[in-house]
Amino acid sequence: MRVVIVGGVAGGMSAATRLRRLRDDIDIVVIERSGYVSYANCGLPYYVGGVIADEDDLVLQTPERLHERFRLDVRVATEVLSIDRDRHEVTVRDLHTNAESAIGYDKLILSPGAAPVLPPIPGIELALPLRTVEDVTRLREAVLAPDQHAVIIGGGFIGLELAENLRHRGLRVTVVEAAPQVLGPLDPELATLVADELDRHGVTVLLGATVEAIGEDHVQVNGQSIAADVVIAAIGVRPESGLARAANLVLGPRGGIEVDAANRTSDPDIYAVGDVAQQTDALDGSATLVPLANLANRQGRTVADHICGRAVREVPAIGTAIVKIFDVTVAVTGWNEKRLRAAGRHFAALHAHPGSHAGYYPGAQTMALKLLFDPVSGEIFGAQAVGGDGVDKRIDVLATAIRGGLTAPELADLELAYAPPFGSAKDPVNMLGYMAENTISGLCSPVQWSDVASLQAEHFRVLDVRSRSEFAQGSILGALNIPLDELRERTSEIPREPLIVTCAVGQRGHTATLLLQDHGFDVVNLDGGYQTWSHSPAGLAAVAQQSK
Ligand code: FAD
Repeated sequence: MRVVIVGGVAGGMSAATRLRRLRDDIDIVVIERSGYVSYANCGLPYYVGGVIADEDDLVLQTPERLHERFRLDVRVATEVLSIDRDRHEVTVRDLHTNAESAIGYDKLILSPGAAPVLPPIPGIELALPLRTVEDVTRLREAVLAPDQHAVIIGGGFIGLELAENLRHRGLRVTVVEAAPQVLGPLDPELATLVADELDRHGVTVLLGATVEAIGEDHVQVNGQSIAADVVIAAIGVRPESGLARAANLVLGPRGGIEVDAANRTSDPDIYAVGDVAQQTDALDGSATLVPLANLANRQGRTVADHICGRAVREVPAIGTAIVKIFDVTVAVTGWNEKRLRAAGRHFAALHAHPGSHAGYYPGAQTMALKLLFDPVSGEIFGAQAVGGDGVDKRIDVLATAIRGGLTAPELADLELAYAPPFGSAKDPVNMLGYMAENTISGLCSPVQWSDVASLQAEHFRVLDVRSRSEFAQGSILGALNIPLDELRERTSEIPREPLIVTCAVGQRGHTATLLLQDHGFDVVNLDGGYQTWSHSPAGLAAVAQQSK
């Protein structure tokens, strides 16, 4: 049997090596268009910044080593031009000699990845994309002097990783983002924390800004010309499904190749994995695209297993991702609030600002943590975190909980490793579980930052139970300040109107809410407290208004 694989990086190489481990008698041919195989595409931004100093460190394998160990026939600088499904062969071109030839296959695995989106902006050909080792070499060559100005189009994961790395090289950096926030997978009240971090490190971020044209030494953004020595396109990716389309394989609405549970396409002898394959969303079963390395590697293995007659199982995609932006870690899993709203889903949101570990042990860092879940069934829809230490651990636990089908209150039951340098006896994930249980059981009904203005318009009064000094540093307009510890003695001062209680992060507010409910007040707690509100679009707008 001969298996031909298109694309020799994450999904393709995972399939190739698994196949070889399972069977030594298969003829395995890997065709890779770039000059490198099995390279660390996720490491490319760090090579731009010099954090990864040696280009060789990006190249995890060579065709020679892969042949030596796995007897793989790896052909780099070779492009698959077309698929002839009837004849079971692909036409390839050697990019050095331009010679074309046909290679027959019994099974074909497509893992050509995703191509950078390059919108039809005049001069877009001057913008450098970042996908391959060749791209990163071009980018390194373009980034010559620290006094240069780089403009990055796109404030997503790769754009921001590049912003950090170019600052590391000393360049001035501007990120141009069409959306009103950076990092689309985050909800806006968490994305502002990332924008603050970029600002702190000298990155200019233009939000709601569109690049209209790119010239040799400038870009035009919202009608203004900005000088630019280097322009980078990091606008997103689209599945590289041209070969599949030309071969009449069935594609989904967003251009990904439709596959079954074994990653088989509409042709049973052709498989598709990784960024090019359409995924099934774990939450609603819809067709989705999740261009991340974990899925590509897992699916490469799945396909090898299936070809070798082993049982495989369908694993829908949750979408779990993490990124480092200077000193901040951002991680997400599942759906965000924007997507839940757009889909018309009924959901509850909870915000917490716990420490990475016990506060009394040195070095604890605060993180912003958000959980989204079904307020009736408790099904976990998604989570987001922005902070330092421990963000990765919490999001990974929450992703595991989603995969395992735990409900939000059941997060309280997780027995997580604890000692003061690592966590808290009530881990942040357990805390989310307690909070969710309080919400679902009706013990309290938190309101969100986005509800404050409309509730105030309905004559809710804001009662801030932080200390006087905390209150003096900033508060919600019209708030009455009575510190929590004085509340019992001063209930007579509290107006008998509906109340929104707030504190710094929602914890003292929760205690105050239950106390006041017990005293007959009509009261709701502001979820995530002043900290969440003040970083939200509503809070930022209110603060800007006050300072005018
Ligand atoms: P790829 O790994 O992209 O491999 C596809 C290969 O196919 C390419 O080398 C391409 O040259 C080749 N090819 C395409 N068409 C043809 C053809 N016709 N003939 C021959 N060869 C062809 N994901 C994460 O989870 N975490 C990260 O931190 C992360 N960081 C990233 C940073 C960067 C700069 C980039 C570009 C991606 C990053 N990703 C990250 C995404 C991750 O790399 C991809 O999801 C993953 O590599 C997809 O695997 P794949 O096999 O589908 O495609």
